[in-house]
Amino acid sequence: MHGRVPLTGGATAEKFFVYDECGMVCNERIRLLDEYAAATSAYRSAFAKVRQAKEAGAGLSEVLLASKAARETCAKARLALRHHKIQHGC
Ligand SMILES: [Zn+2]
Repeated sequence: MHGRVPLTGGATAEKFFVYDECGMVCNERIRLLDEYAAATSAYRSAFAKVRQAKEAGAGLSEVLLASKAARETCAKARLALRHHKIQHGC
């Protein structure tokens, strides 16, 4: 084993210090950013599985379905962030 592999673009707790206009940390926005980061990284790995399955000549329907679902989750998370920005101004 090579010990720890650094997480790249990981979903885990990068600390986002986000402040709203009152100078307060907006927890909701932090939560949404976390969710978005997690969704993005899930989509990335689902997409990688599709490529692996293609290269292996394996059946694609299952991985394609998973990748489609991951992409939708990703889009929803992005939309939630945008809505938050509109409603909350942060
Ligand atoms: Zn906010």
